[in-house]
Amino acid sequence: MRFHILTIFPGMFDSYLDESLFKRAQEKKLLSVKTYDIRDFTDDRHNKVDDRPFGGGPGMVLKVQPIWAAMNAVGKDIAKRRAKSRTPKVRTVLFSTRGARLDAAASRRLARYDHLVLICGRYEGVDERVAAHIADEEISIGDYVLSGGELPALVLMEAVSRHIPGFLGKEESLEETNGSFPTYTRPEEFVPAENIARKRIPKPWRVPPVLLSGDHKKIAAWRKEHGGGGAETQGD
Ligand code: SAH
Repeated sequence: MRFHILTIFPGMFDSYLDESLFKRAQEKKLLSVKTYDIRDFTDDRHNKVDDRPFGGGPGMVLKVQPIWAAMNAVGKDIAKRRAKSRTPKVRTVLFSTRGARLDAAASRRLARYDHLVLICGRYEGVDERVAAHIADEEISIGDYVLSGGELPALVLMEAVSRHIPGFLGKEESLEETNGSFPTYTRPEEFVPAENIARKRIPKPWRVPPVLLSGDHKKIAAWRKEHGGGGAETQGD
């Protein structure tokens, strides 16, 4: 899987992708990431990526021309890596507040592509011709407005990557298979005494005894009872 990110802030991705699971996945060559600075693809001498909206109104809109030019660079990168035997599967996503909601099923579906091209909007949004003629689909990560598509891109990349075989290590689980339930670790009793300016001795915070019982049937039943079900139960 190769992620191509079109953004006016490529630096925002570096620190997150250079740690933990993403770092390991790139080292293991399970995935790769290429950012495209939309500003590098402008055709005017001021390198303008945005302009005023037709019809008036506040704010600026990302222009279609540099995004189109950046997409050509994406196409070249894909062509360069293409194995002769098969056509790579490519999907282009535009982040938009009006898009379909990202969920577990969409993450699983998108994990089947060889290349995901992620277009990050900014300002008041993106010239609608990007949605109409360049992107295959529009995605929103939730019913709230962010300042740009960069965080949505990272959210999507992480949700999708967890479905790439080998991305998760032994120590991380896929909620889709295990379900989601509350977890505890040592100590069995935590006394929240220190740094609390209270006279009475606070009661310890205890781990539910069933989890310490060693009875795996009872533990499984408890987890089921307290679980959110995990994404698998929400269906495709
Ligand atoms: N005025 C626009 C908001 C633009 S926010 C509107 O009402 O729709 C600027 C950019 O941030 C958007 O183009 C989109 O790429 C991104 N964005 C903001 N919130 C988002 C969300 N919840 N999901 C996905 N992308 C989002």
